[in-house]
Amino acid sequence: MNFLLYTGLILLLSTNSIFAQDNFSDSDFSIYRQWDVWKVPTAERSIIQQIENIENIDVIRVYEDYIEIYADRQFVDQIRSLSIPVVYDRHLINDPVDYGYYHTWSQVLSEVNTYITNYPAIARCDTIGWSVQNRPIISIKISDNVVDDELEGKIQFNGCHHGDENIATEINLYFMRYLLDNYGTLPEVTSLVDNREIFIIPVVNPDGFYAGSRYNANGIDVNRDYGFQWFQHSGASIPFSQPESRVMRDDYCKYGYTISLDYHSVSSYVNYLWDYSTYQVPDYYEEVVMFSVPYADSTGYDTINGYSWYQVSGSCQDATYGLFGTLDVTIESQQPTDPDPECLKNRGAMIYVAKLAGYGIQGYLTDSLNGSPLEGVLFFKQGNDPRWITNSRNATGEYHKILAPGTYSVTAYVPGYLSQTKSVQIYADTSVRLDFELAPGSDYFAIRLLAARQEYSNFINSTYAYDALGPVDGVFMSLNRQGFVILDFGEGNQVTDQTGYDIVIHEGNDGIVENCEVYAGNSPEFNQGWQLLGTAVGTDSFDLSSTGLQSARYVKIVDDYSSTSGTTPGYDLDAVTHCHPSAIAEQPQIHPNQISCFLINSVGDIPQVKFDIPVPQNVKFTITDLSGRTIASIRETYTAGSHYWSPSNLLDNQASSGIYFINVDFISSRLTFKLEIIE
Ligand SMILES: [Zn+2]
Repeated sequence: MNFLLYTGLILLLSTNSIFAQDNFSDSDFSIYRQWDVWKVPTAERSIIQQIENIENIDVIRVYEDYIEIYADRQFVDQIRSLSIPVVYDRHLINDPVDYGYYHTWSQVLSEVNTYITNYPAIARCDTIGWSVQNRPIISIKISDNVVDDELEGKIQFNGCHHGDENIATEINLYFMRYLLDNYGTLPEVTSLVDNREIFIIPVVNPDGFYAGSRYNANGIDVNRDYGFQWFQHSGASIPFSQPESRVMRDDYCKYGYTISLDYHSVSSYVNYLWDYSTYQVPDYYEEVVMFSVPYADSTGYDTINGYSWYQVSGSCQDATYGLFGTLDVTIESQQPTDPDPECLKNRGAMIYVAKLAGYGIQGYLTDSLNGSPLEGVLFFKQGNDPRWITNSRNATGEYHKILAPGTYSVTAYVPGYLSQTKSVQIYADTSVRLDFELAPGSDYFAIRLLAARQEYSNFINSTYAYDALGPVDGVFMSLNRQGFVILDFGEGNQVTDQTGYDIVIHEGNDGIVENCEVYAGNSPEFNQGWQLLGTAVGTDSFDLSSTGLQSARYVKIVDDYSSTSGTTPGYDLDAVTHCHPSAIAEQPQIHPNQISCFLINSVGDIPQVKFDIPVPQNVKFTITDLSGRTIASIRETYTAGSHYWSPSNLLDNQASSGIYFINVDFISSRLTFKLEIIE
């Protein structure tokens, strides 16, 4: 089973052909601008025109008495030959590294090829996706039994989100060489390769790497493009807008790494979570004390909180942890002329964190009847303190999480199964195995976060995005004004159009009924194929048939930008649930005539709805005004038999005089009553 298979993704496992798709060679390098900025001390229209006509030179800005241009040094003489004065101003990116020491793109590929050819038993290389210009994004897996999935701590090292930060790639390649060349010789390396699954993605942004540019080939900053608390710092108008960040997202979903490290080159920092806000992560002890501080001690770098250094939205590390529960830090290294001493400096720390990736808790989620692996979400708590969640892998049902020594409760949720909570004792420097064998149930809900935005500034909302996952539990994610979330029901658990309502959006209770737009679709991408189900007013139900979709795996929920309530502004999303086809099929279809429902006058001025239903079901009451506008709605569960419902439950005392309508939605029918209120 492949989770979120990237469009066009091809896994090339043959060592002879893994790089066959790369159509570029280093001699193409001259087609890329060097991004030198030059000044021409005039702003005369005729001169601008002459410069514009020269190939490979761009006028980037016109000032009152001078202009700025991009030009590679070799083309500047063409300007001078027109007797136009031009002076060098600045270089936009880091100076190119000495390629006598650093790998070129083709050297990266050939070195990886050589190593996986020489060590086929413990090294494998997969092309996990493609860049904008169709360069392969490669991932090297290093482990014993390298073709198997084993219950071993998984760690991912990645480099060069920013293509000009070449030291990031060097540190990764150096570590690859160190592990492979010393397996079977150095006991520490041998033990690590035998007991961990180590993944190295040396170049996340191959086009930028090739061109010597921070950005990808679309000019986007890939490390601002991830969809957790994303706020348009990338240069793109949507989160996960680029193939490079989508490939990484899908890779994180597929493997469920315990730990990930993102290598960069600005300083000498171990940059820990979060980048976007001042909040302390729930797994602070694990992130900082167990992970970041020892890494810094080993390298001589300093630890620093991402936000306190400089605020970034849409970073890889925030999304890796915020969406997928993988503990992540960003390593900022120096980029000296000779990379080797910097690589050596990181090597011991990388060994340390690879060991750490196997500590804490791990196990499998399986079906108690047939043992098949289950993809779900696990919630962790220490006493009353919630920790961040993690997902079990689609392919194997396997999960991992680093936890400091102590006692925890762990709850596993899988759609279509009964949840299970277990208590577990965690010890230092070891891993506890805790499996969950789950019995079939009938609740269906979202299990993965694929994008989420709650706020960027004015930090008042400390609810966790992951609380939109799992069944209704009274704990909610506040979307904040104009926040959004994209949720995944999981492969095989998509909602299917049936008679009556299919999807229920459950609002948590912060004292205010709020609204959001609800979309269904079959692509996780922010702007692909979504169909509007409607506006949810508080807890609300929707029928998929209104969209024309037969089924939908994903739901996108966007706050309507109206509410400003307290510390939990915007829609408060507790859960999204749906009725799976098999669960619905067990319920008898009810003919409308079997339901009796009418308005009766009762004590007080407002009449009540009395109804009799032959089977238990959810009934939704909606009050609209003459224009059809929804005033309020509520959905409640009733047993078979007679019930009364009063519209005053929804209408407050201030309801103004006039004509209203009460719509009552049963499983298979809707009845409408007219209600006149006279003050
Ligand atoms: Zn960087």
